[in-house]
Amino acid sequence: MNYDDNNIFAKILRGELPCEKVYEDQYCLAFKDINPQAKIHILVIPKGKYVSFSDFTKNGSGKEISAFFQAVGKIAEDFDLSTEGYRVLSNIGKWGGQEVPHFHLHIFGKQPLGPMLSKS
Ligand code: 5GP
Repeated sequence: MNYDDNNIFAKILRGELPCEKVYEDQYCLAFKDINPQAKIHILVIPKGKYVSFSDFTKNGSGKEISAFFQAVGKIAEDFDLSTEGYRVLSNIGKWGGQEVPHFHLHIFGKQPLGPMLSKS
């Protein structure tokens, strides 16, 4: 799948759409999900043009990948999520339910999160 420069997160990265930013560095940006599914619901995205987790881990540089996951861990610490526990999740492709074709990790926390997958 080719990267779509008009996806919502590309527009956020270019500053064409607003976001509630919680973290930014040279390699990634994190912001609150517009439709939160938990008390804390943060999206972390790389600044590079990667369609999905698969694309990112296959084609991202070692520096991009390590910086990304370090940022995820730092954000969880900044929001004090590790004591009670939290969840990170990435939807990938059609069966994974991915809606926005720019790789992102969801961070959920500050409440019990229930079973890993819906029973339906
Ligand atoms: P996916 O289903 O692709 O894993 O998740 C996409 C997420 O992006 C959804 O949780 C959705 O609420 C969020 N989202 C979609 N559009 C926007 C937006 O314009 N701003 C923000 N902050 N989140 C968005």
